[in-house]
Amino acid sequence: MNIDIKLHKNDLPDDLELGNVIAVDGEFMGLNVRRDPLCLIQVSSGKSDAHIVQFDRSNYNAPNLVKILSDENVTKIFHYSRADLAHIKYYLKTETNNILDTKIASKLARSYSDNHSLKTLIKEFINIDISKQFQSSDFGGNLSPQQLKYCSNDVIFLHQIHEELTKILERENRIKLYKDCLKFLKTRVELDLALFRDDIWSH
Ligand code: MN
Repeated sequence: MNIDIKLHKNDLPDDLELGNVIAVDGEFMGLNVRRDPLCLIQVSSGKSDAHIVQFDRSNYNAPNLVKILSDENVTKIFHYSRADLAHIKYYLKTETNNILDTKIASKLARSYSDNHSLKTLIKEFINIDISKQFQSSDFGGNLSPQQLKYCSNDVIFLHQIHEELTKILERENRIKLYKDCLKFLKTRVELDLALFRDDIWSH
């Protein structure tokens, strides 16, 4: 599979046309929002392209990217958006609107499995074995070709996977439950940012 990978410094270019449904993922220095800075945001139009934005971490000035993330008319597909949204809100100072999430969709659709990793979904729906070797690597400095390929893999399959999961959700009458879960997402991220990390519904 030939992927068109483009690395952009600080922001997406002015004239980029990505369409109305994009896949989005982020890479950070770790999972603790305040401690671990956002390093990259990758986006894909779903046509085997990956645009990787590497931030100037002294200012996070990325108006073109922020415009797309906040735009209600552009649908954003994430895999486990919870971590990405917290970092985006904290570092890019923007809300992300109109979100779909393949991990939540998978947990509701694929109740036959307890593995909802992106690697598993790519194997099941695309039949490709991707390497997660660079998942825990240093995205803070100069990026190797292997790192660029790794973080591109995190966005290029999301359109197709979401489409397949939606078919199952519709067949099993779970699509409304999925949509209702998505409505709570912003609140879940607000809870995380307010350090209520546990499941507030648990006893
Ligand atoms: Mn990723």
